Amino acid sequence: MAVTVKSARQIELMRTAGKYLAELHERMGESLKAGMSTLEIDQLGEKIIRSYGCEPNFLNYNGFPASICVSVNEEVVHGIPKKNRILKEGDVVSLDCGLIYKGWHSDAARTHIIGDAPKEVKDLVERTKQSFFEGIQMAVDGGHLYDISNRIDSYISGFGYGIVRDLVGHGIGQKLHEDPQIPNFAQKKKGIRLCAGMTLAVEPMINLGRGDVDWLDDDWTVVSADRSVSAHYENTIVITKDGEPEILTI
Ligand code: MG
Ligand code: MG
Repeated sequence: MAVTVKSARQIELMRTAGKYLAELHERMGESLKAGMSTLEIDQLGEKIIRSYGCEPNFLNYNGFPASICVSVNEEVVHGIPKKNRILKEGDVVSLDCGLIYKGWHSDAARTHIIGDAPKEVKDLVERTKQSFFEGIQMAVDGGHLYDISNRIDSYISGFGYGIVRDLVGHGIGQKLHEDPQIPNFAQKKKGIRLCAGMTLAVEPMINLGRGDVDWLDDDWTVVSADRSVSAHYENTIVITKDGEPEILTI
């Protein structure tokens, strides 16, 4: 599939989708607390999405059974919400979700810490977020796709963390996952040339230990192979004519 370039009107629709998703993340983040089940987070998230007149795009995606991916501690992504998974103090909770507004998708992820956690965990969460902001500095009209990958890698590698390689960022638009794929680790090639109007979901997934991952028997949940804590940060962005990309989901 070719990489699509969106018109001003299409970007406006994605901007609205992004605005709702940013608000959703804020509201879910404020609600997180010890004692809450991961299923409650999903139910709250789905309710908020539908209150906007939007549809959750993760629900039933390739059979995924929920609207919000809730991945705790060593879970990297695609954690399935459960009634008996109760959050406790010190848990690292990644919420990944998206919604559809008038046929247009948004996708974003945030990692939260319940209460307090060791400094090395707080640093991991903060630096994973920062790696997104480092990477998107390269998401400019006329630049190359893998400049984003290389920048994320060079920022993260200095800390000795493991970059997840089996999962990558992606284009987004009328589909949740469009071309191109956006790795979070250094590439030998340059990748496609970027141009204004391309909409991308950039999403570093970083482990405190090694970057290798396993899939659990539920066929969804991805965990760090060494079971070290993992963090995830994602936004949907649009490349603009004048330097900085616009972040649609903040
Ligand atoms: Mg996502
Ligand atoms: Mg994504």
